[in-house]
Amino acid sequence: APGLYLVATPIGNLEDITLRALRVLQSVDRIACEDTRQTQKLLNHFEIRVPTVSYHMHNEAPRAEELVAELKQGARIAIVSDAGTPGIADPGGQIAAAAIAAGIPVFPVPGANAAISALIASGLPTDRFTFHGFLPAKAGQRRTALEELPRDNASHIFYEAPHRIAETLADLEAVFGAAQHVVVARELTKLHEEFLRGPVSELRTQLSARATIRGEIVLLFSPATEQTARQKSSIAAEVASLMQTEG
Ligand code: SAM
Repeated sequence: APGLYLVATPIGNLEDITLRALRVLQSVDRIACEDTRQTQKLLNHFEIRVPTVSYHMHNEAPRAEELVAELKQGARIAIVSDAGTPGIADPGGQIAAAAIAAGIPVFPVPGANAAISALIASGLPTDRFTFHGFLPAKAGQRRTALEELPRDNASHIFYEAPHRIAETLADLEAVFGAAQHVVVARELTKLHEEFLRGPVSELRTQLSARATIRGEIVLLFSPATEQTARQKSSIAAEVASLMQTEG
């Protein structure tokens, strides 16, 4: 059917493309890509020959207008980002909103997403969570963002750059304490996929022992997990002090 298709692509492992994504990408009139060269590699791999057009942070609004004009004439257009689900910490949302405002059908074609993949294998609560995208790059703003997080038993999910993970973990320890349980999910679905789980202070020690930290990272934690640890240790301390006074 004519309309706008938001198509998820793999976040590393090419097998994560869906059968429906392939069929949709093959059958649209045009594929709007965050980076045409990046998407062309994927299209070549699957032998899909469909014209591409670029859209990104800096041209999303004017491009949305052009694409909506084509959609109004009955075109089928797919939106694809560099990796994962378009619109999630990626452009795509403005085009979807513009299409909806113009009365054009918008179809999700779901697939890989780094945040959800990290969450389901994190061991943290999955019933309630907040996805925050990237933390602010500036130290002061990042600290404030962490301080303002609600401290309940929901999970918080962040995307993080490898060159900033050490600083962010230091901030996290300063705000939530050394015992705060955190999960670092790195290179999901790729050859060197890795999950580090433990108190933030231990993860910092582990990561600082590495010469460099590479790859793509999702950082997760649930403040109440730390509270539980804290409660446990304060109960242990209380028991110890009671035993001392008894003895
Ligand atoms: N739209 C994408 C999605 O659905 O997950 C996210 C795009 S965002 C610009 C890129 C960030 O997502 C990376 O910096 C990293 O934090 C995270 N990410 C993407 N792929 C990843 C992977 N394979 N493993 C871990 N994190 C990943």
